Amino acid sequence: MKKRIVIIGMGFGGIHAARTLAGKGHEVVLVDRNNYHLFQPLLYQVATAGLEQESIAHPLRAMARHWQPGTRFELAEATGIDFARREVHTDARTIPYDYLVIGAGSVTNFFGLEGVQRHSFDLKELKDAEVLRNHILTAFERAVHEPDPARRRALMTFVIVGGGPTGVEFAGALIELVHFVLAKDYPELSTRAARVVLVESNDKLLAAMPENLQDYTLKKLRRMSVEVLLNARVVDAAPDRVIFHDGAVIPAHTLFWSAGVKAAPLAAALDVTAKPGGRVPVEPDLTLPGHPEVFVIGDMAYFEQEGLPLPMTAPVATQMGIYAGQAIVAKEAGSPVKPFRFRDKGSMATIGRNSAVARAFGINFRGYAAWLIWLLLHLYYLIGFRNRIVVMLNWVWYYWYHERQVRLITHRTGGHRQFEECK
Ligand SMILES: Cc1cc2nc3c(=O)[nH]c(=O)nc-3n(C[C@H](O)[C@H](O)[C@H](O)COP(=O)(O)OP(=O)(O)OC[C@H]3O[C@@H](n4cnc5c(N)ncnc54)[C@H](O)[C@@H]3O)c2cc1C
Repeated sequence: MKKRIVIIGMGFGGIHAARTLAGKGHEVVLVDRNNYHLFQPLLYQVATAGLEQESIAHPLRAMARHWQPGTRFELAEATGIDFARREVHTDARTIPYDYLVIGAGSVTNFFGLEGVQRHSFDLKELKDAEVLRNHILTAFERAVHEPDPARRRALMTFVIVGGGPTGVEFAGALIELVHFVLAKDYPELSTRAARVVLVESNDKLLAAMPENLQDYTLKKLRRMSVEVLLNARVVDAAPDRVIFHDGAVIPAHTLFWSAGVKAAPLAAALDVTAKPGGRVPVEPDLTLPGHPEVFVIGDMAYFEQEGLPLPMTAPVATQMGIYAGQAIVAKEAGSPVKPFRFRDKGSMATIGRNSAVARAFGINFRGYAAWLIWLLLHLYYLIGFRNRIVVMLNWVWYYWYHERQVRLITHRTGGHRQFEECK
């Protein structure tokens, strides 16, 4: 019998669940508070003026149209779930379901550091990347008119917290933006005085990578003039400075926080005892305990494999989405459902031009080979043929001409909390 399957959240998990369910004879309702799927791993390239924001997003109605018949999209924010009545409450209307797949992702975790939350930038949404790009470029514009050398240097100092893939990739892209592009744009500034400082509380970068790739990343970033501070913790911030656990202070107008994420607020509405990071514990088949018709996937789900929680990454969300779709089809066919198992195909991070690290199928790659793998895989996983072409053209253009086309300040005041509070 035809069932109504509601999927909340069209991130990596949600779109793969929907794609798996398409054409299987059910009614599939896609719900997201945005009308696009966002390819978060490339957000940092929008923030560093390398890509247009449109090129890393894809309209959900176009996807739903592709998955016809039976699939439709509703723009709405889910606010709660009535498990007894099998209804999703949203800010638009109440949607009944037979099966529910919840993949609302995660939000930045500031670990209760109010000063940091107030004065830092993070990257989770498309608009965050635009705000950050505006801020970085505005900092340089202000530096041009700043007579005090110390304040000028603080305007050109960028502190990045978190030595995971996002922090590493952002640091590499930012220093290249400064040295290769902004150095030409701002002849009146000594851009070599600009500082990009990467702060990690651990004694190594890219904790999930093998040691030789961690060492390579550290050396490469330092060679690119990124100042890497290990075993250091940022505990507070003000509009013009960043404060460390030992009382040290770096004068800086830009603090970027990528030190952690926690489950999306919707997790708190599920009425379960949350695991660390507010994640929702799930059964071996990814269902909510006591609710075999409700699946929780992706960053929101807490699932242990070999004694360790699965990381909050795109491959985990993707495989969980596919599994949830297949499990629903199997349940409806009366077939047994095997427990979920994540197959780790590896991980990667790009550092800069011609340089990346990758671990794939038990082999470690670094340098140019890893960089090529990174480029090709990101193009492959990006949604939409046009997006792939646009992104590839931008990368080729940058590679040959050292130009990042999107050096646009689209709002002069929007989001510049730092500057406004410094007046
Ligand atoms: C800057 C950045 C870089 C990253 N780089 C990498 C990387 O290089 N490699 C990697 O593997 N992973 C990376 N990740 C992590 C990866 O993007 C996530 O693990 C992945 O997106 C999780 O997928 P998901 O489906 O659980 O949620 P998401 O992809 O976050 O999607 C959640 C969706 O739910 C929607 N939503 C949220 N709340 C509601 C609500 N209440 N109602 C309706 N809709 C809602 C959101 O709009 C969103 O579309 C990165 C993340 C970020 C932020």
